[in-house]
Amino acid sequence: MSEKTIFKRIIDKEIPAQIVYEDDLCMAFKDVHPQAPVHILLIPKKEIASTDQLTEADTPLLGHLYGVLRQLVKEFNLQDGYRVVTNCGQNGGQTVYHLHFHLLGGRPLLWPPG
Ligand code: AMP
Repeated sequence: MSEKTIFKRIIDKEIPAQIVYEDDLCMAFKDVHPQAPVHILLIPKKEIASTDQLTEADTPLLGHLYGVLRQLVKEFNLQDGYRVVTNCGQNGGQTVYHLHFHLLGGRPLLWPPG
């Protein structure tokens, strides 16, 4: 069996995280290396390695995740603007192969990204 990702270990509560939201389908916690005053990672509990692994069956899950993102935007007062990022694959800069959305805000964010 392949090794658990660090995010699966957070889901299983084997390692600590600063959890800011959790329900049956997903979990959100603070990024350990924040790139902005607010930097939260939102992950499905289902083990999906990346956007490349998504199927049509995951459509309701993605809708749910975006609903949670909007709740987090309110909770963390990001009404002035924010960014939702999903890195995919080597060139996309993905380092953890468990699907996740970065929610970044609290400062003006530059574009294009590096
Ligand atoms: P990515 O490079 O898009 O795959 O993003 C992975 C993110 O996970 C990075 O921003 C890391 O700082 C973050 N990260 C790695 N390990 C942990 C952890 N144990 N708790 C919280 N965030 C983490």
